[in-house]
Amino acid sequence: MKGTFSKQKELRQLVQAAKQQAKLLEVSSVESLPRRRGTWRRGTWPCAPTLDDLRQKVLGCTLCDLHRGRTHAVFGEGNPKAALMFIGEGPGREEDRQGRPFVGMAGQLLTKIIESIQFRREEVYIANIVKCRPPENRVPFPLEIAACRPYLISQIEQIRPRVICALGKTAAWALLNTEIPISQLRGKWFEFGGVRLMPTFHPAYLLRNPQDKRLVWEDMKKIRQELGSHKK
Ligand code: SF4
Repeated sequence: MKGTFSKQKELRQLVQAAKQQAKLLEVSSVESLPRRRGTWRRGTWPCAPTLDDLRQKVLGCTLCDLHRGRTHAVFGEGNPKAALMFIGEGPGREEDRQGRPFVGMAGQLLTKIIESIQFRREEVYIANIVKCRPPENRVPFPLEIAACRPYLISQIEQIRPRVICALGKTAAWALLNTEIPISQLRGKWFEFGGVRLMPTFHPAYLLRNPQDKRLVWEDMKKIRQELGSHKK
């Protein structure tokens, strides 16, 4: 009897996942999916014609269950033509309250990190893997990451940064389709859809482990070097 219940539950979850995926494809006008997760061809994820249109879609999005607990969807902010884009995991309590990314203590540290390489916060673009706050700040589920992915890819396509900095394990894993520890990924160059990508530690991790700020500083120097004088 117990086995039957768990099978029914599994079936319900599968049906829900299939429905979400169908809704996702419909809303993002996607006709074909990239062959490998972690990569995409430019122009194949036409979520919305402009960044503002995309923002409006995200603000009203109900594609995954994370919309149920949000106060605000956090689309992202910064220079729409930024050379450097930071991608974190998802909004926390303060971000959800204000509708802006990285505004809590981790956000203040991120601002300092940005300024350490002679950028102003408004010169870069800051976004997250998921746009709505997971309950109790838990790590977003794979289905939630998948549901939100077309928004992020469309954002990257609109902004066309020269470099992406993935902040923390969740962002790095979601973008690179890997489960290699962040300690081994950080400071190395990867490619994501033709954009140079470097993972580093998440500022929230640095608040708990300040001894590793030195490593992030090393990563930031590499990013600065890669960008040269480019800010756009
Ligand atoms: S997390 Fe992304 S996919 Fe889920 S409801 Fe929010 S905007 Fe939509």
